[in-house]
Amino acid sequence: MYVVFLGAPGAGKGTQAAEVAKELKLAHIATGDMFREAQKKGTELALQAKSYMERGILVPDEITIKMVLERISAPDCKNGVIFDGFPRNLAQAQALDKAMVGLSKAIDKVVYIKVSEEELLKRLGGRWICRQCQTPYHEVSSPPKIKGKCDKCGGELYQRSDDIPATIKERLKVFFAQTAPLIDYYSKTGKLLEVAGEGGVDEIRQRILSAIGKKGARRS
Ligand code: AMP
Repeated sequence: MYVVFLGAPGAGKGTQAAEVAKELKLAHIATGDMFREAQKKGTELALQAKSYMERGILVPDEITIKMVLERISAPDCKNGVIFDGFPRNLAQAQALDKAMVGLSKAIDKVVYIKVSEEELLKRLGGRWICRQCQTPYHEVSSPPKIKGKCDKCGGELYQRSDDIPATIKERLKVFFAQTAPLIDYYSKTGKLLEVAGEGGVDEIRQRILSAIGKKGARRS
């Protein structure tokens, strides 16, 4: 099963994509995480992506598409993938479709996690992320048990450098201008599933699983 997760920054896409990928035993390709990983390692890719990420704008397609195409030909992607943060514009969506044809596969479903703009701004403002396992927390709505420490792995929590007000605004602008047209693109293929992204993490995960025709284990 090959599923694309669409959603604005702060919609909970990363959290849900990671959970659903684990539950369905699919590979999880998160382009933002791949770029941040490259920054940690200081690779050539990191140098190419850094200035775009800092400004909250998209890394050029030729860099991003090349990175994803290399990743999807890895053995762990054979049984399916959850794409998280990719594609983010029409050119990327078309490149992905073409690559899937080359692999004799196709995108099966597209999950659009919909959250109001007001809620997105609130969420992104107080977001803290675990440096080790990437679990996100929020100062108000989902604080960690111990300040600055991840509940799951004890890792240090940090605020993303692009979660500052001016960059948040730019990232939302980029989403509505460049990524939102994909809602229409995938809706025409009949693959689009819209899921309300407000509520508890587990509740939203159940909504997503049932939208894609899978049953998830209840956790609470
Ligand atoms: P994210 O973690 O998905 O919010 O991504 C963080 C940043 O990485 C974005 O603001 C972009 O600068 C870059 N990025 C992530 N995914 C893509 C993509 N598919 N195309 C271009 N840039 C991307």
